[in-house]
Amino acid sequence: MTTTVYGFPVKHGCLEVGGVPLTRLAQRAGQTPFYAYERRLLNERIRHLRRLLPRSVALHYALKANRMPAVVQHLAGITDGFGVATAEEMRIALDTGISPVQVSLAGPGKTDAELAQAIAAGILVEIESAEVLRRITSLAESLSLRPQIVLRVNPNFQIRGSRMRMGGARQFGIDAAAVPALLGEVAAAGVEFRGFHIFAGSQNLNTALMPDAQEKTIELAIRLAAHAPAPVLQLNIGGGFGIPYFPEDTPLDIAPIGLALRRLIETRVKRSLPRAKVIIELGRYIVAEAGIYVARILERRVLRGHTYLVTDGGLPHQLPASDNFGQVIRRNYPAAIGNRLGASARESVSVVGRLCTPFELLAENVELARAEVGDLFVFFQSGAYNLTASAVPSLGHTPPLEILV
Ligand SMILES: *Cc1c(COP(=O)(O)O)cnc(C)c1O
Repeated sequence: MTTTVYGFPVKHGCLEVGGVPLTRLAQRAGQTPFYAYERRLLNERIRHLRRLLPRSVALHYALKANRMPAVVQHLAGITDGFGVATAEEMRIALDTGISPVQVSLAGPGKTDAELAQAIAAGILVEIESAEVLRRITSLAESLSLRPQIVLRVNPNFQIRGSRMRMGGARQFGIDAAAVPALLGEVAAAGVEFRGFHIFAGSQNLNTALMPDAQEKTIELAIRLAAHAPAPVLQLNIGGGFGIPYFPEDTPLDIAPIGLALRRLIETRVKRSLPRAKVIIELGRYIVAEAGIYVARILERRVLRGHTYLVTDGGLPHQLPASDNFGQVIRRNYPAAIGNRLGASARESVSVVGRLCTPFELLAENVELARAEVGDLFVFFQSGAYNLTASAVPSLGHTPPLEILV
């Protein structure tokens, strides 16, 4: 009988990724630690979103969640565009063959060199401040190109229940109150205005609050559009769909969010912004659950009655799990011994890596199958903001590999 754990099948007590038993996948990888991402789960996730979101909505992927080139290439075929934040992400996005107008560059602190690359590439540049608009104007003149721009708006509201807020007192985008005046400058700036990007918050797990946030976002865009020099052709309403990491987290229910958005598009967007394509941009929700992190157990140690599993993984590869990227209280990521999923003998352990610092703690007092040296420790929910958000190289230890199966 096949059971599944976090979406991955288990056969003969061993986790399978892309139909390959984990022990064999580790042999194929040639090393531990490694990250493995699964195409099947990526496809399923996109299919799920397409089924429940309005047909007219474009689905974009934010590369900062996971920029492994093979993952990005795969997503190029099943999403409608990419959000990038760095020149490296821009290169990885364009290498997939995606049309440049489906890519947009956002984020604070862009250098002239990065902006010039984006303009030359023909991707959309998100204007995050009046100062950036002026710099874009002079870069466009010196390059003799007409950049396509979107205004990134810092909304005058927040999504309650969002664990990472992007609006309000935050460094992203232009204060909504300052946008009308800036739109007056856009007409004379030698740029082509395409629309707005309004992103209020990330890692949202509260289904009931999302329609309200989407409504506020769309109403704000409609108010601002009255000051725009050209029709709004695209409206990126962000995303912020969260995923459950911990037992008390409830997964987001996309169906009611999709229904409410369909109503908003019919009643508000089609009437007031008739040429606007609504974009939802997601990172975490698309990739997080399609990935696992795998480290091999090197030692079992018992100290003062407590068992430590020492692995070849660790904090530099898995900052969110070790140090709670965006979390307030330390909690353990969902974990397992990937080659002992049927085992009945269990024990409470702490899982660590090889760095000589007490911060080096992957999981604390977790109940796992009783593990032996050579077994494969697994973190689930590891496809987003893990390696990209961590600090490799690792004091000389082998950095993790990434594979797409
Ligand atoms: C990071 C980011 C996203 C993706 O956020 P997730 O929470 O990973 O979905 C979307 N849009 C913008 C502008 C971002 O900076």
